Amino acid sequence: MANPLYDTLFGRHAGRDTVFLHLPNGGSLTHENFLKLSARIASVLTDLGLVPGDRLAAQIEKSPEALAVYAACVRAGVVFLPLNTGYMGEEIRYFVENSGAKLLICDASKATALGTVAQGCGAQMETLNADGTGSLMDRAAGQPDSFATVERDAEDLAAFLYTSGTTGRSKGAMLTQSNLLSNAQTLADYWRFTADDVLLHALPIFHTHGLFVATNISLIAGGSMIFLPKFDLDQMIALLPRATAMMGVPTFYTRLLSDPRFDRDLAQHMRLFISGSAPLLSETHVQFEGRTGHRILERYGMTETNMNTSNPYEGERRAGTVGFPLPGVELRITDPATGMTLTQGEIGQIEVRGPNVFKGYWQMPEKTAEELRADGFFITGDLGQIDADGYVSIVGRNKDLIISGGYNIYPKEIEMLLDDQPGVLESAVIGVPHPDFGETVVGVLVPSPGSEPDLDAITAQIMESLARFKHPRKLVILHELPRNTMGKVQKKELRDRFGALFTLA
Ligand code: ATP
Ligand code: MG
Repeated sequence: MANPLYDTLFGRHAGRDTVFLHLPNGGSLTHENFLKLSARIASVLTDLGLVPGDRLAAQIEKSPEALAVYAACVRAGVVFLPLNTGYMGEEIRYFVENSGAKLLICDASKATALGTVAQGCGAQMETLNADGTGSLMDRAAGQPDSFATVERDAEDLAAFLYTSGTTGRSKGAMLTQSNLLSNAQTLADYWRFTADDVLLHALPIFHTHGLFVATNISLIAGGSMIFLPKFDLDQMIALLPRATAMMGVPTFYTRLLSDPRFDRDLAQHMRLFISGSAPLLSETHVQFEGRTGHRILERYGMTETNMNTSNPYEGERRAGTVGFPLPGVELRITDPATGMTLTQGEIGQIEVRGPNVFKGYWQMPEKTAEELRADGFFITGDLGQIDADGYVSIVGRNKDLIISGGYNIYPKEIEMLLDDQPGVLESAVIGVPHPDFGETVVGVLVPSPGSEPDLDAITAQIMESLARFKHPRKLVILHELPRNTMGKVQKKELRDRFGALFTLA
């Protein structure tokens, strides 16, 4: 094939006048018109001097045009580098500088600030706004509707996706065409996507979840997407009856459940609700099933590997687990100290190998060598275990592991206990420096609406249920946990905030 990623995801739809994107204003875009849009943008990229292998950084709001920039990059052989829309000037400078991007595309409202950034990094700049206007589209208007798609090899780079930066500075994960393709086909088959599916898409498209999982699956299956700029409760409730499937982060589901309008009738045409990017509370599972009759399917993935595991489409979707390794993906649990493979039931680091695993971090050879083993296994940085039936569960991140007085403490075990206490909506357990123990445990509690957790009763319950070394030395109340756009709890922020509780002045 001339350009495997283009041919498989986009080119196959040439000439189809079926709807690809349903837009919230009632409009829609067909597969064929989307291809024409991407052809015009691809011509602009070529006119601007971008050649295959060049990087294009895009900090753009979600829109059909923004998605067409992705398709245009694939057509022109340009490496696509989507950036979180929340990043500010200096953060963007890091990504543009680090990636050596030749072109930065941003919203016109940011053109002045980012123009300086682009100039300083020797990059060109164009604008693209949420409503599809901007200098990029002015240039595209005069271009032909067809484009001679550039030849690429499956092992050529397709995208740099920067990790969410939950555990430190974001790293540019180099993803090839074959990385993206292997997962798209596997997931579409595993989750039974067909051309009849209408995917309710409210995720951002700068992250692997919304871009490579949701969009690529829809494209490969030939279905359509209801393309919402962001999660909006009223819009979701209004549009759910038109959808057949939805992908979301756990907060999407808790927000839907917080609305009494969300009921069995609204979800009756749905065949699948999928959750990922952060842990789904067992309570959400139970409530969701009670309210709608649907059991959410939880899966596990990351920027570097796309998707690793999924609960089954048919068969038990086990709460608190992320299911089984996907076809073609090998998963093992190893001892962080020795690297030896552990046996079933033991907790250790999760390692994965397969065609989905990335090619390394851009310009970070040491970091790449630390995490990508010579035998092809990638050390994910997550800790987990495999139960007797083969279901994988995640117990937390390696970096969140608390080592207190020489004991390993897994925050999730304590969080599960805290989450179950009356008056507690959710919790986060962190390790903070302690002069005697190295680290000690702090529990952060978020009260359920209208309640006040009884800290003495909770402490008594902890004493009864957990070994002494795991007891939180302090319980603190916060009204909300700090989360990023993907719903991930920012434990680093909590550690910064409560880190000095036990240090000597
Ligand atoms: P960084 O690597 O920069 O610290 P990050 O790991 O949060 O950021 P992503 O690649 O967006 O960046 O997120 C992947 C991580 O999200 C996984 O390693 C895992 O910790 C978490 N994750 C994804 N899905 C699930 C899930 N279903 N349950 C629990 N955690 C999940
Ligand atoms: Mg990570």
